[in-house]
Amino acid sequence: MARIAFIGLGNMGGPMAANLVKAGHTVSGFDLVPAALDAARAAGITVTASGADAAKGAEMVITMLPAGKHVLAAYDDLLAVAAKGTLFVDSSTIDVADARAAAAKALAAGMQFVDAPVSGGTGGAAAGTLTFMAGGAKESFDLAQPVLANMGKKIVHCGEAGAGQAAKICNNMVLGISMIAVAEAFVLGEKLGLSHQALFDVASTSSGQCWSLTTYCPVPGPVPTSPSNNSYKPGFATALMLKDMLLSQGAAEKSGAVTEIGKHAAEIYQRFSDDGNGGVDFSGIINAIRARSGG
Ligand code: NAD
Repeated sequence: MARIAFIGLGNMGGPMAANLVKAGHTVSGFDLVPAALDAARAAGITVTASGADAAKGAEMVITMLPAGKHVLAAYDDLLAVAAKGTLFVDSSTIDVADARAAAAKALAAGMQFVDAPVSGGTGGAAAGTLTFMAGGAKESFDLAQPVLANMGKKIVHCGEAGAGQAAKICNNMVLGISMIAVAEAFVLGEKLGLSHQALFDVASTSSGQCWSLTTYCPVPGPVPTSPSNNSYKPGFATALMLKDMLLSQGAAEKSGAVTEIGKHAAEIYQRFSDDGNGGVDFSGIINAIRARSGG
């Protein structure tokens, strides 16, 4: 069992750190928000006065922070106090370039680094069923793997540092685009007098089949567990989908990839979010499409 520092004990980090405690690890943690610290203490995490205090003496330092700038800023303090050879794992969803910058900082300080963003949401974090997409040297990944397995059910080594973030934003770009495609099809079907169930029955067993349709159907009825049956309560909030779409478009611009549909999809989520729907599940985009189609 390892001594682990966990920095960022929010909606995702809190339950993830709690699962490490349950697995028998000794976990020290820090967050800027007092309520997050109270919940962490109740889950058996030793709360410290700073991130650096948590990292002192740790064999592994996990960060679960909002964005790349938070990770890079936190690393300055954490790398200064951690023992050489400590394994740094960043599970935040951040820009690929920021992940590579974090890796460079960690390696220059004599540490090991793995980027390991997740999918599975807060439900997966609580249940310990997250998917980790990891990037980094094979020996660092091998060290991280058993600990990540205490928080998730699927751990994929995607390549060198930054490859985990790359896999995450490519996957979520497909998800963001496919949800809009499925929502547009349902709205067109409504205009043509087609019932939701009839379109679902055909498309779910035809070439239109995809996760956005069969697991996360944006109209209530065909898939009873999808957020559309629960007033589009997230689930996966539009603000988080927009964040990932913008990360994919930033990476596309920097790398020269042409992602015209991804760009347009990001604009559609941006408008939906600007209209006050950042907290609505992203499948609620169908309501904006229907409204623009005249109801
Ligand atoms: P959150 O806002 O609930 O938690 C982030 C926490 O980091 C906050 O509690 C904040 O106080 C803390 N923090 C910020 N700066 C800090 C610092 N310098 N030191 C210590 N703590 C600091 O966000 P979340 O939903 O837990 O998401 C965390 C990351 O996981 C994000 O990058 C997000 O994109 C990603 N993610 C979220 C979900 C989801 O469904 N919520 C799913 C997959 C990935």
